[in-house]
Amino acid sequence: QLIDLIEFCQNLLEEYQAIATEKHRIKLINNSSYYRVDLDRKLLHYILTNLLSNAIKYSPNGGQVILEISCNLQQVIFRVKDEGIGIPQNYFNKLFQQFERASNVGNIKGTGLGLSIVKQAVDLHHGEVSVESELGRGTTFTVKLPLTLSSEQIKVKPDKVSGCLEKS
Ligand code: ATP
Ligand code: MG
Repeated sequence: QLIDLIEFCQNLLEEYQAIATEKHRIKLINNSSYYRVDLDRKLLHYILTNLLSNAIKYSPNGGQVILEISCNLQQVIFRVKDEGIGIPQNYFNKLFQQFERASNVGNIKGTGLGLSIVKQAVDLHHGEVSVESELGRGTTFTVKLPLTLSSEQIKVKPDKVSGCLEKS
């Protein structure tokens, strides 16, 4: 089904506004001219909720959390940016593995599942996920999803990930 990107993201951010502390400023930046996209709603929800909950959780001192959307006819690009604890370089190769967590998480709770779900959902969309991070400064996750697939193709596998979403 077609998703209204802006509406979808605004609703999501409202949920997270409630969860975040008053030290966080959560913002949506929209650079898109195409609003309705052919993506799987459930998978998109897995991707963005996990990235947003990480962005909030791993910035215990607060700061800006930005969800940025850029979209053209070929692809949609989501960026989730935080000003949190950052990710150590030597952990990058384990980032999307189940039950792995970086050494700098301190007493922040988690099971190490969220990003493996993000990766699965992005793969089901034949997309890409990448990360840039600076320790103690913050982290930006970028997700690129191609828009050429028909929703029929994408919808074949979502039950594979359903039920796995871990709310933090
Ligand atoms: P879960 O999401 O299952 O509750 P989790 O947050 O520990 O637990 P993931 O979301 O898979 O698991 O993230 C894996 C690890 O990657 C985290 O434990 C943390 O070390 C690191 N990480 C993920 N996102 C961020 C971020 N935005 N800033 C800093 N570290 C992060
Ligand atoms: Mg997580």
